[in-house]
Order: sequence, then C-alpha cells, then structure tokens
Amino acid sequence: MTSIKHHIPDALLLEYASGRLAEPFALVVATHVSLCDECRARLSAHEMAGGAVMEAHEKAALSGSLRDNVMAQLDDAVEEAPVYERSSIFPAPIMEALKGRPPKWKPLGRGVRQSILKHGKAGSVRLLYIPPGMAVPDHSHGGLELTLVLQGAFSDEGGHFGVGDVEVADDAVEHTPVAAKGEACICIAATDAALKFNAFIPKLLQPIFRI
Ligand code: ZN
Ligand code: ZN
Repeated sequence: MTSIKHHIPDALLLEYASGRLAEPFALVVATHVSLCDECRARLSAHEMAGGAVMEAHEKAALSGSLRDNVMAQLDDAVEEAPVYERSSIFPAPIMEALKGRPPKWKPLGRGVRQSILKHGKAGSVRLLYIPPGMAVPDHSHGGLELTLVLQGAFSDEGGHFGVGDVEVADDAVEHTPVAAKGEACICIAATDAALKFNAFIPKLLQPIFRI
C-alpha cells in the first residue's frame, strides 16, 4: 500500500524485532507491517541483523542431535497453531487476536464503540469504531498510545490518518481525533496506561470501560 504516510518509528520496530515490545503494541506493529511494504522491509533488515547474532549464540550453545531435537519441537509447535487470514478490514494479526470471530462491540456513547482485544498488566489493545464526523473524547495519555486506522480516516492535532497510518502519542500529547466524513473510522489502539479523558466520558466510568 503506497498511500501510507505515518509509519512505525524505528525505535519501536527495533524493540518489536527483538521481541521486547509489550504485547498490546506488538499487535499494532504486526498489523501495520502486514499492510506496509516499507516497514516490512525495515523490519526484515532488523530481523536479519538480530538473526545473525542469535545464530552465533545457537551454534555455540546447541550442537548436533540436541539442536535437531529443539528444531523439530519448534516445527511441531508451529504446526499446531491455527492460521488466521485477513477478513474484511481486519488483517491476519487482528483476526488472530479475535480468534477468527467477529469483534464484540460495546457502546461508549454517541455511537462510539469499542471491542477490547487484550487487557493486562502490559496495557490494553482495542478496536474503536467512530461514526463519520464524530470526535473521540478529548484525552491525554499516562504513557504511550499507538493508533492504526483500518477503515475510514481521522484527523487531529498530529495530522490526517488514513488506512494503514499509525499515530504515536505519548504523555505530552493531548488530542481530539475526529473521524472523517463518509465511512465510519475503525482503528486498533494500544495503550500502556489508562487514558485520561477530559470530557465526554466521566472519569467514574473509566474502570467500567477499561479505558
Ligand atoms: Zn510503514
Ligand atoms: Zn490518544
């Protein structure tokens, strides 16, 4: 896809390549990489660099039949995992998080809906559905927030974001994303700390919505 303008910053891509990126963000990165040739190429460069280091370690640590044994077990593990494919607007990594089922949407008010994919100590990752022309409640972040557009588009203080674009926001950013007119905007958004809403959703309700 050539229309993507907002990409994954290199520091995040490196963390992802080394397997250190927290799960909620890793899902957004995997989804972007599945849509973006440019980031896929950058990622494989990082992985090749990392792979060379791993291989050197492996050769030193594992020899002969022990190595074959480990590799055979790895092959088995890979075979058993079900394979999910892209379905409508949801790329394979999201279908995997959904375990092949359609998202379970919960209303947040004013037509805005969310479907939580994962929620845990490392943060949370959710799908957001924003009706055309509607604003996501004005908020700031306690930590990092990654938002990737899957359908439609939104604009905010950081620019215009269409399908495949990623917005990276941190605790310095306070923004009000507004969905473009036309199609509803559907995004995947990952956060490592609770969002702080300034209006629209009372703070009291935040634990209920887990946002
Ligand atoms: Zn990219
Ligand atoms: Zn935000």
